Amino acid sequence: MGKLVLEGISKRFGAVEVLKTVDLDVADGEFIVIVGPSGCGKSTLLRIIAGLSDQSTGKVLIGGRDVSSLPPSKRGIAMVFQSYALYPHLTVEGNLTLGLKQARTAASLIAERVAEAVRILALEPFLKRRPGELSGGQRQRVAIGRAIVRHPEVFLFDEPLSNLDAALRNQVRAEIADLHRRLGATMVYVTHDQVEAMTLADRIIVMNGGIVQQIGTPSELYRRPANAFVATFIGSPG
Ligand code: ADP
Ligand code: MG
Repeated sequence: MGKLVLEGISKRFGAVEVLKTVDLDVADGEFIVIVGPSGCGKSTLLRIIAGLSDQSTGKVLIGGRDVSSLPPSKRGIAMVFQSYALYPHLTVEGNLTLGLKQARTAASLIAERVAEAVRILALEPFLKRRPGELSGGQRQRVAIGRAIVRHPEVFLFDEPLSNLDAALRNQVRAEIADLHRRLGATMVYVTHDQVEAMTLADRIIVMNGGIVQQIGTPSELYRRPANAFVATFIGSPG
């Protein structure tokens, strides 16, 4: 259902090719982490999956459907950004419900979905507050809640922990891992942090310079890095 396939995705900005033919097959329920240094094309690839940016070549298939020319709202995805991207003038409840209201979801279903997200993320105390009254960790949990209520086939995370301090980072990371166990949803998670990649991923994609260097389980990458870049980035002994 939440299977994600990328076929020959590439992206140019003018003369600059920032993604070079990315092929990928993500199983339903798999937790994929895309890791690589700043500027290697991670966000660009995620935005193409989400439909926030057009690919130059290739196709995106979600749940067996070619979604390449569909808008983000019709792709069965939900995205969580580093910057939270909450609406500052709306309460937490308003932020959680807005997308469903815009999609003309029945009020009873909205209530059910919000109750579920509130339970999973313990958001009850914050429902009537506005984002400005919340800590970074609380804001990011609201942003994750806003993704949950949509019941997406695929969750997309773009460096969701980068704006949090170390203690909160561990806490929200554990919450995301728990969310994956509970929902069994497909997740594609971008980070430049090897530790996040090694702890969260079923499989890791290592990128550099717009090119996929290697795809494999954390232990495969650690034990059999495909090249010196992967070895150094993952921190393999040899
Ligand atoms: P990452 O998320 O891995 O840090 P990005 O996907 O944001 O990398 O960027 C990859 C490359 O594409 C970078 O060199 C960046 O400067 C370039 N880039 C990203 N967005 C644009 C854009 N809208 N126009 C031109 N170049 C861009
Ligand atoms: Mg990025």
